[in-house]
Amino acid sequence: MKLDRFLAKQSSMGRTAAHRLIAAKRVRVDGEVCANNQQEVDRFTRIELDETVLQQPERALYLMLNKPVGILSATTDPVHPTVIDLLDDPDKHTLHIAGRLDRGTSGLVLLTNDGRWSKRLMEPVERVPKVYLVETAEDIIPEAIAAFAAGFYFHTEDITTQPAELQILAPRQARLTLYEGRYHQVKRMFHRVQNRVTALHRESIGSLHLPADLQPGQWRALTPAEIAAF
Ligand code: URA
Repeated sequence: MKLDRFLAKQSSMGRTAAHRLIAAKRVRVDGEVCANNQQEVDRFTRIELDETVLQQPERALYLMLNKPVGILSATTDPVHPTVIDLLDDPDKHTLHIAGRLDRGTSGLVLLTNDGRWSKRLMEPVERVPKVYLVETAEDIIPEAIAAFAAGFYFHTEDITTQPAELQILAPRQARLTLYEGRYHQVKRMFHRVQNRVTALHRESIGSLHLPADLQPGQWRALTPAEIAAF
């Protein structure tokens, strides 16, 4: 939200009064005097009026994890271990998953407590590429390349999948780039070309690639540059 709106809501003053405080340089955002009424603030922003702290910032978390097969992409589960169980950060229960993987799928999972950031990542309109390494039960027919590029109609959601790029690496192995994340999308797409996915691994999301030295089950915090990439 904008700074003037935050102030107006917070102290039940009107917008005009908020503008006056900002113009008088009495408001600090993350420690700096802010003269811009329209400055974006959220729950990770420290906001002060004179000597009073109006909002203590929450700790923003952005993590990448190499999800092993068999672990659930969920925050809690009564039966199966989840990606959250693999973390040891004290604030891990504030996290949500930016793009789930099936239990049998391995690879890159991003976790955050910043909903605006994960939204930018996951909205189909943003067209963030997600790259998967796929192994199949049958040889992949060359016609699959054009079929994946044309898109498939999914009756349940009443959508046609966005053009996807299929690169056949070996008779039963391919690299697939999707620009959206529909339920069981990769498996459903291969089913349409009379094939079955036997192994699935997510290699990257946008510019974030799973590092070769991040072993299955390991995680690390994203760097400021990686966070800023979305
Ligand atoms: N598509 C699938 O079918 N499964 C996943 O885990 C991810 C994409």
